[in-house]
Amino acid sequence: MLFDSHTHLQFAGYDDDRDAVIARTKEAGVSMVNVGTDVTSSVFALELAKQYNFEGMYATLGFHPTNIERRHDVQEKKEEYYEEFNKEQFLNLAKDDGFLMIGECGLDYFHIKDEALRNVEKKIFLDQFEAAVTCKKPLMIHCRPDKDDDAYNDLYQLLKSDFHSLLATSGIVHFFVGSNETAKKFLDLGFYLSFGGAITFKKAEDHKERVRYAPLDRIVLETDAPYVTPEPHRGKRNEPMYVRHVAEVIANIKGVSFREVEEQTFKNTKTVLGI
Ligand SMILES: [Zn+2]
Repeated sequence: MLFDSHTHLQFAGYDDDRDAVIARTKEAGVSMVNVGTDVTSSVFALELAKQYNFEGMYATLGFHPTNIERRHDVQEKKEEYYEEFNKEQFLNLAKDDGFLMIGECGLDYFHIKDEALRNVEKKIFLDQFEAAVTCKKPLMIHCRPDKDDDAYNDLYQLLKSDFHSLLATSGIVHFFVGSNETAKKFLDLGFYLSFGGAITFKKAEDHKERVRYAPLDRIVLETDAPYVTPEPHRGKRNEPMYVRHVAEVIANIKGVSFREVEEQTFKNTKTVLGI
């Protein structure tokens, strides 16, 4: 059994064949977490989970930091953007037991370079962090640095300084691309690191080094479908059953059996989700 800890089957790219994709995912014995990126996509992820009785199908509630990018007028309307996030509505939804995690949420400095906008990102992240702490749910973190590990460093500071009591299971840092030093910081906080299609690419030495560094009992697998399709399917739309190729590469790097990666990462994902 494999677990795709981060996917987006609720996205429009699956509108034509979603049921078929889910059927073959289940057939392949792969469980999945459909990760929300705003209220609409989170609620749809929850509907899907309910439709399948939460059997191998789970949902998160999140507001993705790059939502800010979609608004071209956002420079002039930072406050309006913040209102669009709608903290009150978010905190209410977060109470729903169907959402097992909060996120994806975090900081994206690769896409957002403006200092004022980065401050809005931080504010929205802290609100989601507050929801996670209040509802005792783990975080699904999206963090993408621009230079060195800038976004990771800031995110780490926010996690460390704003709340004294971190969650028992802190969550997942999805698509981890930081240094080993940064990995250690998040591992020490209790986070799991997630790796996906990028580690299967030919020129992936940096990604492979990260996998080498992270202990297997703190790694989870992801596809981030429909994006980042792993080899040998690169160029096509991604889907959860391709998570197998990520597991194969991790087994190779770690010098352990496929089965060991499969079992350990499945167990890790269940631990984070509390199921
Ligand atoms: Zn994602």
